[in-house]
Amino acid sequence: MTSRRKQLIAELQEAEEELQDLNGRLDDKPEFGFGEGNTGAYSWEMSLARKERVMTRIEALEEALTKVEKGSYGQCERCGNQIDPERLEILPATALCVDCAQAESAATPFGGKATPRTAAQS
Ligand SMILES: [Zn+2]
Repeated sequence: MTSRRKQLIAELQEAEEELQDLNGRLDDKPEFGFGEGNTGAYSWEMSLARKERVMTRIEALEEALTKVEKGSYGQCERCGNQIDPERLEILPATALCVDCAQAESAATPFGGKATPRTAAQS
């Protein structure tokens, strides 16, 4: 379980570095008007969309770390069952087992908390 903690901390640091980087980019907010299709505003908006995803990831990682400390890591938040270790390898910050994650995404097909990746591209 300590190796899991290290993995989560490493991922958290990585996400925080990315957040710093994005914050730096977002400071260079283009002064010119939005909606003219200029590339500056476009990449600024892309950075903003990425920042939102990184912040969601940081939140999930912090929650996962708290659970490691409490000893409840790896338990599904919804049904209380153990989450498949293979799933945790791929998604160490996940709080839901496969069944519950599928049930949640079926319940909110257009988002809820998570922003669909395609929305940033259209
Ligand atoms: Zn579950």
